[in-house]
Amino acid sequence: MSLQERASRERVLKKAAAVAAACRKCQIGYERRNNVYGEGDPCARLMVIGEGPGESEDLLGRPFVGRAGELLNKMLAAIGLPREDVYICNTVKCRPTLHEAGKLRNRAPTPAEMENCRPYLDEQIEVIAPQVILALGAPSAKSFLGKAFSIMKGRGCWYEGPSGIPLMVTFHPAYVLRQGGTALTDTKRLVWSDLKKVRAKLDDLESRSSAGPKDEAQRAEADAVAEQMSFL
Ligand code: URA
Repeated sequence: MSLQERASRERVLKKAAAVAAACRKCQIGYERRNNVYGEGDPCARLMVIGEGPGESEDLLGRPFVGRAGELLNKMLAAIGLPREDVYICNTVKCRPTLHEAGKLRNRAPTPAEMENCRPYLDEQIEVIAPQVILALGAPSAKSFLGKAFSIMKGRGCWYEGPSGIPLMVTFHPAYVLRQGGTALTDTKRLVWSDLKKVRAKLDDLESRSSAGPKDEAQRAEADAVAEQMSFL
């Protein structure tokens, strides 16, 4: 990717982030502290799409910076991808909240909120044009695959995402963190198997690209690092 292309994408995303920050289509636009547009490499090969910002993200204006974000970083590292090399965003850019017992709590975004925010997400996908999309959790997956999609049955498979981009669905790191005992181990194993498919798809696409197949020794080294760094 040329430096010019990178700079041009950065400019477009910066402008788009400013438009999203001024958006008040939903009530949560008035209630959030910061708009959490997304961050990462504008030329990323992998785009990770979560549900919506939580409290930590709302405070900092950055996606996946709380506990779920820490686990996401480990998940990405396990397949040899530093967070900075990926583009990370959410289906909605404002923190969905509800008032409960005098406290402000996180909640899942409503279909209307996701629909209102969709043009911002579509623009991110169009500008970044990732080779693979990883949808985290049911709300994110349903926003691409329809409301009948079942994460229990449908995760770990390849789907055709926007513009034909291969789309993988796995469990949300926050869901993983809510598990305990054997359920935690089992869930992590499933996530690990999904992540390995993402790694394999990226490697496969790279080997098909004009750059030619990746050097075998380099590939073996990347695999060894990935296994070592497995978050299991
Ligand atoms: N959960 C999400 O879905 N997105 C974030 O940015 C943080 C937590």
